[in-house]
Amino acid sequence: MSIYDLSFEELEEYILNNGGKKYNASQIWEWLYIHKVNSYEEMTNVKKELLEKLNSCFSIALLEVEKIERDSDVNKYLFKLDDGNYIEAVLMKHDYGNSICISSQVGCNMGCKFCESGRLKKRRDLTTGEMIRQILQVEDDLGDRISHVVVMGIGEPFDNYDNVIKMIKIINHPKGLAIGARHITVSTCGIIPKIKEFMNLDLQVNLAISLHAPNDELRSKLMPINKAYPLKDLMKVLKEYTEKTNRRLTFEYIMLKDINDSEECALELVSLIKGINSYVNLIPYNETENLEFNRSNLVQINKFYDILKKNRINVTIRREFGGNISAACGQLRSRKEDL
Ligand code: SAH
Repeated sequence: MSIYDLSFEELEEYILNNGGKKYNASQIWEWLYIHKVNSYEEMTNVKKELLEKLNSCFSIALLEVEKIERDSDVNKYLFKLDDGNYIEAVLMKHDYGNSICISSQVGCNMGCKFCESGRLKKRRDLTTGEMIRQILQVEDDLGDRISHVVVMGIGEPFDNYDNVIKMIKIINHPKGLAIGARHITVSTCGIIPKIKEFMNLDLQVNLAISLHAPNDELRSKLMPINKAYPLKDLMKVLKEYTEKTNRRLTFEYIMLKDINDSEECALELVSLIKGINSYVNLIPYNETENLEFNRSNLVQINKFYDILKKNRINVTIRREFGGNISAACGQLRSRKEDL
């Protein structure tokens, strides 16, 4: 087990059961999450006996970096996990700070047709610690603080709900990485029971929904999850979510040439989400060599954008990152494993 798997309360409990004092938990978290040390020896204000016990139970190691691709404002990391599996994280440098996109699973079971991550079924969930170690390892490489975290890498976070929520609580904790809840975003393909649980947690964390189609027929073709949780039910729970939390939702909509980018689709999208406190993020599709989908051309994307705008839908076109370095979800891992 990794020390990064422990919540503050769990660490405190372990320490009390092993001859330490309550305040040791604060000291140790300070070493881990403020000073970001990579060994127990560096925790100079904590008793040796306690550190030795911790060391025998909990690894403090970060992740093994297999490969880094660098561009001017984006770095892409391929990590090798302790069991030999690979995952990815992407760092984006914005004018407002550094944001990281982390993975939540090894592979994914959602089977979205356009997505590289889902070509191989899920092998396993990531632990809480493995998600946190992605952040710490990238900060270490960067030599700078990460201010924003999005759970939008490989995997479906709401299919690994408990570990993801625990991770969020640790990175948001004032004694942890202290990343503001409003600077954390979780993206889901629309697993309704988990959206309901999430809504009742009363966290100020942002929720993004991968919509990608304005009607059930098309969405079920692109995203099999839609058969289990069709749009009518999804929209109903999302409306509840925005009313209960008073938070604005993000709808992600990747622009796929001749598939979901027509003017009719834009109008259908308008009537689908009208009245829901939200904004739409239009994402130019990142083409991948293994899948036959194409990116909509810019003229079409702009036309789509204009229709939403004219109908008073909040909409942005996602700035592109990492087009040159295979930063689309799952591409680096896929290449590594020859999937
Ligand atoms: N499973 C979660 C989070 C991971 S995917 C979800 O579905 O939201 C993160 C986002 O990237 C999703 O919106 C996904 O649909 C999108 N995506 C997948 N492949 C892509 C590609 N090649 N180009 C652009 N976006 C892609």
